[in-house]
Amino acid sequence: MYIGSRHNAADHLKTAVLHGFAYAVVDVPLVIADGLKGQNLREVPVPGNHFKSVKIAGDIIDADSMVVLTHVKGHALSGFGGAIKNLAMGCAPPLGKRDQHQGMQAEINESECVGCGYCVTQCPFGAISMGIKASVDRSICYGCSACLQVCPEEAIDFNWKRDVPRFLERMVEYASGAVAGKEGKVLYLSILTGITPDCDCVPWSDTPIVPDIGFLASTDPVAIDAAAVDLINQQRGNEHSSLHSHHEPGADKFSGLWEKVDGLHLISYAHEFGLGSRNYTLIEL
Ligand code: SF4
Ligand code: SF4
Repeated sequence: MYIGSRHNAADHLKTAVLHGFAYAVVDVPLVIADGLKGQNLREVPVPGNHFKSVKIAGDIIDADSMVVLTHVKGHALSGFGGAIKNLAMGCAPPLGKRDQHQGMQAEINESECVGCGYCVTQCPFGAISMGIKASVDRSICYGCSACLQVCPEEAIDFNWKRDVPRFLERMVEYASGAVAGKEGKVLYLSILTGITPDCDCVPWSDTPIVPDIGFLASTDPVAIDAAAVDLINQQRGNEHSSLHSHHEPGADKFSGLWEKVDGLHLISYAHEFGLGSRNYTLIEL
């Protein structure tokens, strides 16, 4: 769905190999699960508040079991990115990613826009046009947030209170579709090292927000995300990271990064929805 080198399976495979996921390195074949152009998908029924069915990549459905490997980090739209987000976005084809973002709409603050035009080049849907200032066609915008992240004047925003909680809920419903029919056959491994402020898909990085913690394993996507957030919050924040507050142990690091997002709503909704349980017992090895 996004601008960049993951538009189709061929480019995606090249990107993966450049990042070290070649067959010769990992000793398993790499399959882009939604096909060459993202059209290999199936509708999976879910008992959702937002969706009655979700679109999941065909080869995910056909897989007998899954190991969901997640690098935990911050995220501009969801506060943090963990196993639930990985299932939701990672197992959805472009149309499924659009479903999840739908309803979020970029708004441009005209008084802050300097008319540089950069956002126009970064919108994957051609939703932004230029006069003296930029403007968004709300009938085309799918709320992918690419423009928010690149505007040098921070002139673009979402309605965070209204739209973002629903976006988090839609991700949970998609995550449930990704694991439907695989009860007891999914293992989650989460990596809590190099915990950077923003998503791994952005073309920049930054100092980790807390020291490295280690690895988590679970059969429950909600428990593993809840444990990851708790372990991160227990750390003292790195003074030289982009945490602008909440450095002390026990404070919510992700709201110290992305103050407009309540990322914990993802975990609460996933617990209520029955994707898993936010309660866990941590066994240290
Ligand atoms: S990137 Fe920002 S400043 Fe530049 S045209 Fe777009 S909204 Fe305006
Ligand atoms: S959020 Fe911005 S970049 Fe994404 S579709 Fe809307 S206008 Fe385009």
